Amino acid sequence: MKAITLHGTGDVRVESVADPRVVDPGDVVVRITTSAICGSDLHQYHGRVPGLPKGVVLGHEFMGVVEEVGPGVTRVKRGDRIVAPFSISCGACEWCRMRLPTQCSVTGRAVFGGRFGHVYPGGQAERIRVPFADFMCEKVPEGMADEDAFFLGDILSTGYFCAENAGIRPGDNVAIFGAGPVGLFALQSAHLFGPSRVYVVDRVGYRLKLVEELGGIPVNLDAGDPAQQLRALTGGRGPDAVLECVGHEVPFAQAIMAVRPGGTMSSVGVYVEDAIGFPVREAFFKDLTLRMGICNARNYITPLMGLVQAGRLSPRRIITHTLGLDEAPRGYAIFDKKEEGAIKVMLKP
Ligand code: NAD
Ligand code: ZN
Repeated sequence: MKAITLHGTGDVRVESVADPRVVDPGDVVVRITTSAICGSDLHQYHGRVPGLPKGVVLGHEFMGVVEEVGPGVTRVKRGDRIVAPFSISCGACEWCRMRLPTQCSVTGRAVFGGRFGHVYPGGQAERIRVPFADFMCEKVPEGMADEDAFFLGDILSTGYFCAENAGIRPGDNVAIFGAGPVGLFALQSAHLFGPSRVYVVDRVGYRLKLVEELGGIPVNLDAGDPAQQLRALTGGRGPDAVLECVGHEVPFAQAIMAVRPGGTMSSVGVYVEDAIGFPVREAFFKDLTLRMGICNARNYITPLMGLVQAGRLSPRRIITHTLGLDEAPRGYAIFDKKEEGAIKVMLKP
């Protein structure tokens, strides 16, 4: 089958690889109908993730139709349309039972398309093997388009998790760092908690334009120190909650500098380095609450699906490109360099 593979920094290729098949009794093989490129893929694309095997099939955002079913699978059937979370979990270990499936001790905290634990080939391909299918697969209701269900497996759940962790209360001023796909879904999700205003910091003009269309207030990084700008915009106080959706040391520090005393910082940007520096004195004397982490997307797929169906979340608004698999190298390049107005680049096998 055709798949997108990574061979080194910036070296994404379209290759022919072996078809996936059922290996363990709990597996299914899914024919992918939609996949996409994520900001987390960019960390790998930039060569920031050590230990990735050369030629790994990329992608952890995918959905499709079940084609083959292992003998141990009871809940999922051939022909089912499913969406799955980006991380792979057994559903039965201590951590999975504590509703922390990203900490799964059986898969070693694996994520499709590389990174920690066992390496499971990813979803930027024509087909994918999904282990522990009874736990992993969520059936997509008939009539719900791929573009509406798709993001539940990763970034819509992540954006929601970020807003939820921020403890937003009605009337709060909120600031989001990053107007990429995750930041834009954090913006949509933040609105569910009743804030007065949601500011979104970035420097990419076309992304800030969508911020405005989605009811956020754009703050341009290039107009000066974002913490100072946010304080000025909130009567000198600083936002009650800051949501960090970038995954770099600079916005992490800027978010801490921006938040009001006693405020909350919620961070979902992925940190691939062992350690970063941050303004610890500011955090300490502010009585900062910091919550961060990888999203247990499996827990959010079911509840958020209802919000999408009710029109309270509009995931398809962020899609700017739908490309064939052959065009994936170009998709990576424009998403990375923020060219051609790219926000979310979808891939259709
Ligand atoms: P993206 O790269 O498209 O978006 C990042 C945005 O941040 C860009 O628009 C960029 O211009 C902007 N930015 C850069 N520096 C900034 C600064 N100092 N202040 C404000 N904005 C700044 O990526 P994305 O797909 O939106 O993903 C964002 C982050 O979320 C990535 O680190 C990704 O790995 C992470 N992520 C985390 C999880 C999780 O489970 N925690 C899940 C999915 C993605
Ligand atoms: Zn992702």
